[in-house]
Amino acid sequence: MEEFLYTYNGAGFELPTVGVEDAKLVIIGVPFDGTASYRPGSRFGPGLIRQASLNLESYVIDYDVDLAGVPLADAGDIAIVAGDARRTAERVRETVEDLKRINPDALPIILGGEHSMTLGAVEALRPASYVVFDAHLDLRDSYEDNPYSHACVARRIHELGIREAMFGIRSGTREEVDYAARNGVTWVHARNYSFDRFMEAVEDLPEPLYLSVDVDVFDVSLVPSTGTPEAGGLGFWDVVTAIEWLLGEKEIVGFDVMETAGSYLGDPTAVTAAKLLFYFMAAYASR
Ligand code: MN
Ligand code: MN
Repeated sequence: MEEFLYTYNGAGFELPTVGVEDAKLVIIGVPFDGTASYRPGSRFGPGLIRQASLNLESYVIDYDVDLAGVPLADAGDIAIVAGDARRTAERVRETVEDLKRINPDALPIILGGEHSMTLGAVEALRPASYVVFDAHLDLRDSYEDNPYSHACVARRIHELGIREAMFGIRSGTREEVDYAARNGVTWVHARNYSFDRFMEAVEDLPEPLYLSVDVDVFDVSLVPSTGTPEAGGLGFWDVVTAIEWLLGEKEIVGFDVMETAGSYLGDPTAVTAAKLLFYFMAAYASR
């Protein structure tokens, strides 16, 4: 199996895997939580999601797909630069670029780690549009003197000239709301979310798309251990249904599940994230 400059293998994934060069889907963990402002711990996210996958059937009932038969690689975790979101995101970018060089047909799946790491994947893949499920706008110019904070990731991505549509939003500053209005960033409040609104908002987005899920989009009851939990979020099927539709209708060049933190026992956060990951992979394989 090809090795990347910055990755190492930790806890194994509970599915049969192939080499990166033969994979359709390639998982890359990014155990970074250096700009966490409220609840740190997403550095454990990639391992927690792999661990939670132990309990999941590889057969996904909804699509009649057995993930054990899908060419899947786990490239391991990226060696982070402690406390430096910019340099760690650059390692994400270089790793995703490496992957596309080795296997141009592979779809990268990033497991976070905090949302700031999405920037590196987007820089590598250069989608025309960024579709994100998140409780937060993440459109701050800078947060705690750091323009590469998790709270700024959508702003940095928008500055690359990428169109944005956001779903499940219920938190932001007045400045972020103004920025979105001035710059044509579409967002749908969690309170007003529906599948019809989702389709309406993504219908005309230029392709290809990058799809990002900050798990705090879900109600806090599903994801208590995330960096910045928020009440009043979306349900599990809201997000799965939207992803299914996107995979059927649009070209997607990358996917991530970010901001999973927590512990192994008695914590639903990684269970939610792992199930979402399985749904994405099975829906992708069933197209
Ligand atoms: Mn968020
Ligand atoms: Mn976010």
